[in-house]
Amino acid sequence: MLKKLIFYFFLFVPVFSIAQKKDKQAKKAAATITIDDLKSRLAIIASPEMEGRNTPSAGLEKAADYISSQFKSFGLLPGNNGSYRQTYPLYQDEVISSAMQVNEEAMVEQQDFTPFSRNYAADMYFSQAVFAGYGIVDEGKRNDYKGLDVTGKLVVILNGTPDDYTTASRSFRSPSSVYGKMQAAAKEGAAALFIVFPKLSKGFSGFSDSWTRQIYKSSQTIFSFFISEDAAAKIIGTDGNSVLTQLKTGSLTSKTCEADIHLAYNKKTKTSSASNIIGVLEGSDLKDEYVFITAHYDHLGKRGEAIYYGADDDGSGTTAVLEMAEAFAKAKADGHGPRRSIVFMTVSGEEKGLWGSAYYTDHPIFPLDKTTVDLNIDMIGRTDSSRHYGDSLNYVYVVGDDKLSTDLKPISEKINQLYTKLELDYKFNDPNDKNRIYFRSDHYNFADKGVPIIFYYDGMLGADYHKPTDTPDKINYALYQKRAQLVFYTAWEMANRDEMLKRDLKLSVPSR
Ligand SMILES: [Zn+2]
Repeated sequence: MLKKLIFYFFLFVPVFSIAQKKDKQAKKAAATITIDDLKSRLAIIASPEMEGRNTPSAGLEKAADYISSQFKSFGLLPGNNGSYRQTYPLYQDEVISSAMQVNEEAMVEQQDFTPFSRNYAADMYFSQAVFAGYGIVDEGKRNDYKGLDVTGKLVVILNGTPDDYTTASRSFRSPSSVYGKMQAAAKEGAAALFIVFPKLSKGFSGFSDSWTRQIYKSSQTIFSFFISEDAAAKIIGTDGNSVLTQLKTGSLTSKTCEADIHLAYNKKTKTSSASNIIGVLEGSDLKDEYVFITAHYDHLGKRGEAIYYGADDDGSGTTAVLEMAEAFAKAKADGHGPRRSIVFMTVSGEEKGLWGSAYYTDHPIFPLDKTTVDLNIDMIGRTDSSRHYGDSLNYVYVVGDDKLSTDLKPISEKINQLYTKLELDYKFNDPNDKNRIYFRSDHYNFADKGVPIIFYYDGMLGADYHKPTDTPDKINYALYQKRAQLVFYTAWEMANRDEMLKRDLKLSVPSR
């Protein structure tokens, strides 16, 4: 009887696929992630020579070369057709000329008008303009175009919001934002748009005249100029009061104004590029499945003489990826390579809007449905000064382990319990957290395509965040090492377990 009982017991006990005891080889490899190594590599990544690693820039290219050379020295295979680089194009518009005339009178650029920096090149002549108040269209609440036909016309609207209108949305796409008003005017069929500002400051162009990843668009932004109240008065007319005062006192309503207006804008488009750096450690029996370990190596560059070193953001993640790559490569050289292939990827353009990871997940080199996980690191070297509970020197924020796969959390927690014993803090995992961290770094592009992710983060949003003072001397290296080792052990487990992580949860994106 007893024998049979034991037999049944073993038969029906669920099979634990998570490591239940420490793996000697994993420990040996993790021990090569040393404080000295982290220090010396981060000193290079966040050095003045890298000039803050703006996307695109010479400093970023230097960092790319350094990361590639490190991957090569570890013996990693180039991830993209013989190259460590996956390069994507970037575009920047440069204004050649712009002009505005009202009734043959030339307006002065920067003083009377500033063209929208993303305008297409055009030359337009109008004999009329339609004034449409604040130009707000907010479904069911307000429509400043009511009763107006602006098809093919030049529309004049005021910046800002009227006193009798409130909106909860503070997004840059809200109906009362500049962007929202441009969208509304385009939807109404307008050919061009003037947005009136009380004063135009020098260099004002509404949106920064910066590099962009997208040059091909499904629709063009409406041809727009930002104009001063004085310039607007020449079109709308004046009763001695400013346009804004006229509107507020009710002496000004929506109307068609007769005026000969000439608008001209000419530009040229410059091109550049940036790269993701990808190194691969080939697996053994499961080498056609992939574990991704990612971090962004770009930061904010320079403003004037000030270098934004980005030591924590995200020099810490980049350096951790390098250290993990070295540790896994050493273990493989000792005969303890991973079963799945491990892809070490440092991406660029994160600070500009997750460009590199978006490009990778739109142009994946390794099948996303064979990518079991992305472990993404963005800032793991410092402490959160606003965290007033627990052990402030022994924690890490973990984000996303309850999404897409029910396998993530048990593995993450078990591995931490076995090896690193950090406090895993889920504060930023709350879908209602205003920081929306799940959507704010590169892992989101993987999650959006269904790849389970865990994101590791230190919560540094204090005085040095996105400041030139985010420097290597502020890093807590002992804590940094421990966090890097947690990611390493987690990757080790995920690379070696029998099954890929199951994808059994749907990702729901909370509304803003
Ligand atoms: Zn970052």
